[in-house]
Amino acid sequence: MERVYLDYAATTPVDPGVKKAMEPYMDKDFGNASSLYSMGQQARIAMENARKRLAATIKADPGEIVFTSGGTEADNLALVGVAMANRKKGNHIITSKVEHKAVIETCESLEKNGFRVTYLDTDKYGMVDLEQLKKAISKKTILVSIMHVNNEIGTIEPIEKIGKMCKEKGVYFHTDAVQSFCKIPIDVKRMRIDLLSASSHKIYGPKGVGLLYVRDGVKIEPMLHGGGHESGRRSGTENVAGIVGFAKASEIAIKEMDKEAKRLTALRKKLVKQILTNIPNSHLNGHPEKRIPGNANFRFDFIEGEALILKLDMVGIEASTGSACSSRDLKASHVLTSIGLSPKQAHGSLRITMGRFTKQKDIDNVIRNVPRIVKELRKFSPFKKGWD
Ligand SMILES: *Cc1c(COP(=O)(O)O)cnc(C)c1O
Repeated sequence: MERVYLDYAATTPVDPGVKKAMEPYMDKDFGNASSLYSMGQQARIAMENARKRLAATIKADPGEIVFTSGGTEADNLALVGVAMANRKKGNHIITSKVEHKAVIETCESLEKNGFRVTYLDTDKYGMVDLEQLKKAISKKTILVSIMHVNNEIGTIEPIEKIGKMCKEKGVYFHTDAVQSFCKIPIDVKRMRIDLLSASSHKIYGPKGVGLLYVRDGVKIEPMLHGGGHESGRRSGTENVAGIVGFAKASEIAIKEMDKEAKRLTALRKKLVKQILTNIPNSHLNGHPEKRIPGNANFRFDFIEGEALILKLDMVGIEASTGSACSSRDLKASHVLTSIGLSPKQAHGSLRITMGRFTKQKDIDNVIRNVPRIVKELRKFSPFKKGWD
C-alpha cells in the first residue's frame, strides 16, 4: 500500500540535495571546525558559508546567527538568555496561550525562578489581540514572545505590528518562526524582530540542528558553557554536517518558496472546500485566510480524532490530531482549548499538513477517504447525545 505522508508540520524528509551536501562533512571533511589544520579550517569555512546563507534568508547579518540543536533549544535560549541578561531591568515576560510547548514550558520554568509571565488570550482563530498586548506591557516587561505561525492551526500572527509595538515600548521581541522559516517571507529588520527561532527538520533538512537569530546589540546569557563556541553564546563542538544541510535546505526552500506557496494554497483550498461540503457538522480550525499555505485543520462533531487517525493509517494516510508532541497523551491540545473549543471538540480534530512531496492525487485520496471514515465512526459514536 502506498503511504501518503501528510504531517509536514511534525517533521519532513531530508531532501536528496541536502543529503548530498552533507555527506563530505561526515567522511573526508570530518574535522573539528575549531582545529587549526586545514581539514578543520575546511569545516569552518563550510560552516561560515552556511551561516551567511541562512542569515540572508531573513535579512540578518551572519554574526547574528547562533546555531543550536533545534527549535526547542533556540526557544529556550531566547527566553532564558534574555531573562537572565535583563533581570536587573525587569522580571516580566509576555507570551500567548497558543505558543509551542518549548516556549510555554520555558516560561513556566522561569516563573518558578522569580519571573512573572502574562499568557495572552487569542480570538477564535488563534490570533493574538494587539490591544490586549499593549495593555499588558509595563515598566517591568523585558520580552514579548509571540510565534510567527502556529504549528497546529496554521494561523499567521501579526508579528510586524507586534514588532513595531515592542520597539516603541523598548521591549525585546522574540518570535518562534519554526513553521514559517523559508515558507513565507521574513525580514527581521522590517519586522523589528530581536530574536527568532528556526529549525532544520521542518524545512527538509536533518533533525537536531536549528538557529537563534539574536539582533546585534541584544545581550543573552548563554545556557551551555564550555568552549565558547558561537561567540560565547552557545558552547559545544559545531554540528558541521547538520549546519551545512540546514543551509542547503534553506537554499532550496527559498528558491521554490513562491511557487510552492501557490501550489500548496491551491491544494489546501480544494481540500477544505471538499471536506466542509461533503461532511456535515465539520469545521475548519484556525484562520480561514491568514494561515500558512500547507496547513488544514478540521474538526468533526461526534467523533474522536484518535480513532480517525488510526482508521486513516489503515488506508496509508499519515496525519495527526492535536499536536504531535502531545499525541501520545490524551490531554486535549492546549492550542485548541485556548481558541475556545471544549476538550471533546478538540479531540475531534484532524491536522493535515502538506509539503514538497504532496501531490494532487494524495489530496484526492484524503477527500475520498475522510468522509467515509467519519460517517462510519459517527454510526457508533457514543458522543452523539450530550455533544457540546
Ligand atoms: C517543531 C517546532 C518546534 C521545535 O523544534 P525542534 O527542532 O523539533 O526542537 C518549536 N516550535 C514550533 C512552532 C515547532 O513547530
